[in-house]
Amino acid sequence: MSAERSPSGIWWIRRDVRLHDNPALQAALEHAETVIPVFIMDAKLLSHSNPRRNTFLFENLRQLEKELQQLGSHLIVRRGNPRDCLQEILQESNAQMVFAQRDHSPYAQIRDADIAAVLPLTLTAGITIQPESMIRKKDGTPYTIFTPFARAWMEHLDSITLFDPPTRFQPVPDLRSEPIPLSQPDTLFPAGEQSALQRLRSFLSSQVRSYHQNRDLPAEAGTSYLSPSFHLGVLSSRLAFHEAQSLALSVPEQSDIGTWINELLWREFFIMILANFPRVAKGPFREKFTSLQWNNDEQGFSAWKKGLTGYPFVDAGMRQLQEIGWMHNRVRMVAASFLCKDLLVNWQWGEEWFLQNLIDGDLAANNGGWQWSAGTGTDAAPYFRVFNPITQSKRFDSDGKYIRQWLPELSSVPAQYIHTPWKMPLDVQQDCGCMIGAHYPPPLIDHATARQRILSAYRQMNA
Ligand code: FAD
Repeated sequence: MSAERSPSGIWWIRRDVRLHDNPALQAALEHAETVIPVFIMDAKLLSHSNPRRNTFLFENLRQLEKELQQLGSHLIVRRGNPRDCLQEILQESNAQMVFAQRDHSPYAQIRDADIAAVLPLTLTAGITIQPESMIRKKDGTPYTIFTPFARAWMEHLDSITLFDPPTRFQPVPDLRSEPIPLSQPDTLFPAGEQSALQRLRSFLSSQVRSYHQNRDLPAEAGTSYLSPSFHLGVLSSRLAFHEAQSLALSVPEQSDIGTWINELLWREFFIMILANFPRVAKGPFREKFTSLQWNNDEQGFSAWKKGLTGYPFVDAGMRQLQEIGWMHNRVRMVAASFLCKDLLVNWQWGEEWFLQNLIDGDLAANNGGWQWSAGTGTDAAPYFRVFNPITQSKRFDSDGKYIRQWLPELSSVPAQYIHTPWKMPLDVQQDCGCMIGAHYPPPLIDHATARQRILSAYRQMNA
């Protein structure tokens, strides 16, 4: 033990609910003899989250508490304003320092600056694989286009030193701790870093090999389903990258691993965008889009939320979201495009709905995904690229397996009509027990007409 270590310090857990490869915990262990793990239930954050995300948080805290107890420590949970709670714990424990992982959301930036002005708070990297501030253009400004960002990111990459999880903690002082709220575990997204690590390793040892081919097919379990764990930091993105990259180097012919790594870089990119342009949380990245005249049709929005637009691929995604709090990436893109481009509803309404429902709801990735879909973002898809919900459906769910899974009312619709059920003749509707208008709605809007409408709206503002 080094002589400079102080007797005790706080590890303030936020989006790093894990023991493995945790730079904030590592810093606390290096600077203090006794590390006090603290989680603060901040009503402002919890009320802006959603029940599924909160459940995932509580279940992960419970798992972390079990692991800490096995290592001779335990979690101190407080409820309230983070600054007041930390001040109290510092006084009660005589701890000298607080260590936490830097978070780039506008709320976190303000909160942390406010706390650092009065308390000994040290922030560490760790939310991304490489600190976002290290990837800059030659003139020192942040990148705004993904491809050059990804290239610079790779060029800048140095070897990653991972931190082992501690094998023992010093016992924490006897401090008051509040119970973690009761919740029901989610079987699709099991909590705990061991589950996340297992899922990562099982994905890297099998599905990743067909990732390039399957990742766009929502009926296949072709992606990792790790987004909730990355969001909450139950899984270190540094470790995931490290393991994926080691695999890629050992089997260079496996280009699929590179495709998956590229997705991790999209995550890095959108976090970097939010960190440098916090205004994106409130409006379009490309500010001229502020003047776009949205139709904001309440009825259309309500039908979209319920998965009743009449376009099966979009509706299946929206029902998947309602039922499990997660949606496949391809369908997120098509459903998002449908809301803002076909229905002409402001993308921010959809962004908010996704955040209220996604178990992986993440300000940076969600905002990036919505701005990309609306064509208002950084290197957004060109405005004239409007996803056709029928051709997307035929291409990525050709036999309608995904549609049938989430839209039981269409389960007996013959394959030739599964993407366009409104085209079923009456006798076919009767035979398959799905009457259009009674059991499933006709399309809310004709796609070709909607496409012309959005293109002229974009043209009018000279996009
Ligand atoms: P995999 O394909 O296994 O990818 C691995 C990881 O890379 C993901 O877990 C995720 O952390 C990251 N990732 C993958 N794609 C993206 C992407 N396009 N942008 C940023 N990170 C990515 N992702 C969220 O984590 N939270 C959100 O709130 C969110 N909202 C979105 C909204 C829209 C409109 C769109 C188009 C995309 C959104 N995404 C969001 C990105 C993407 O859909 C999910 O990350 C992905 O579907 C998660 O599934 P997975 O873990 O199996 O991903």
